[in-house]
Amino acid sequence: MKCPFCAKNLSRVIDTREIGDGIRRRRECQSCSRRFTTYERVAPINLLVVKNDGRREEYNRDKLLEGIRIACAKRPIPSQVLEDLVDDISAQLYATGEVEIPSRAIGEMVMEGLKKLDDVAYVRFASVYRRFQDVDGMVDEIQGLKEWKREATAAQEREAAAQEREAAAQDKVRQDGAQQRQNGAPNNIP
Ligand SMILES: [Zn+2]
Repeated sequence: MKCPFCAKNLSRVIDTREIGDGIRRRRECQSCSRRFTTYERVAPINLLVVKNDGRREEYNRDKLLEGIRIACAKRPIPSQVLEDLVDDISAQLYATGEVEIPSRAIGEMVMEGLKKLDDVAYVRFASVYRRFQDVDGMVDEIQGLKEWKREATAAQEREAAAQEREAAAQDKVRQDGAQQRQNGAPNNIP
């Protein structure tokens, strides 16, 4: 960091302060002892969305949220849940490290999120995003959603049953132990 007065390169930080979206540092030149200020901010990351026709558009979190809100209109979903979904998608997009993301990929991420939230919102979003040409396209999508839900429910039930068996087995161990103690035959003593 060059001193603006003497252009020497050595300075020490005498004060650091958080200001809004950045950090302000007061510095003192080691050479001429004069003081100056530097600011540190996160550089904006430009993420471009590549549309189906090849046009590029800057990624806009609020625009994505608006699209999801429309699909979720009058559905029993708290708006914080939608905010979280968009933040989650944004974080995933930035984490890819890519500069350009196909709009298709973002659409799939939204559908993946809505699938777990609300059937109606999911089909609404799919109908706009996949641009169903006819009613068959929509029926296929709904069929796919139904299958996914059936599989997800079955997996949950398998999980619950396994936990129940586990709990029952532990109960049995406890009961057997209690029985043995009552009979005056403590564990592990022949
Ligand atoms: Zn200086």
